[in-house]
Amino acid sequence: MLLLHYTGMPTGRAALARLCDPAARVSAHYLIEEDGRIFALVAEERRAWHAGQAYWQQATDINARSIGIELVNPGHDWGYRRFPEPQMQALLGLARDVVQRHRIPADRVLGHSDVAPGRKQDPGELFDWRRLAAAGLGLWPASDFVISVHAPVLAAGMSGPAVFDLQTALAAIGYHLEGTASFDPVTELAVIAFQRHFRQNRIDGVADQETASLIHHLALREA
Ligand SMILES: [Zn+2]
Repeated sequence: MLLLHYTGMPTGRAALARLCDPAARVSAHYLIEEDGRIFALVAEERRAWHAGQAYWQQATDINARSIGIELVNPGHDWGYRRFPEPQMQALLGLARDVVQRHRIPADRVLGHSDVAPGRKQDPGELFDWRRLAAAGLGLWPASDFVISVHAPVLAAGMSGPAVFDLQTALAAIGYHLEGTASFDPVTELAVIAFQRHFRQNRIDGVADQETASLIHHLALREA
């Protein structure tokens, strides 16, 4: 997997210091500054400690199977902002290289929030996943994607077969979810994580027609 993060600290310098401090017990393979400088911190064949408790496609030891890239950005706690062009350019080059060398499939190019929806928001809704996908990196709706206008709007507290189908589709993409047919808090968090990645203009945990259609579309994609 390729797992993307934001640093979530006031400055890149502070984040770099923390990632290099053994006492902090966190690390990542790479850090990319907002000006595009790339810091290689952990050799790719070594395990880094960036995912924490996480899950994707039946796997839980995400640190053992992923390359972690930290993007310098203050994050939601310190003034979340867009990822500047030099940083995106640097990321695109590095990510393309990592994905090709490790043959990482599109459905395993992810954000931290995808694998830990209850704890993490990074890299967040200002991260340009569409642009990554346009460069051949990561999952994105196909050009023939259409919104099913007949789908019911599903939200917290509801239950029934349509909720079950939604949960099954989210699980098929990789999210940690079971088909309970009840739109419980875990389901809501998975929908929020999905929106943060694939529907960035609406992050409310409600599976309206566009969000639900996107979920079913991506669950049914060609492997
Ligand atoms: Zn993270």
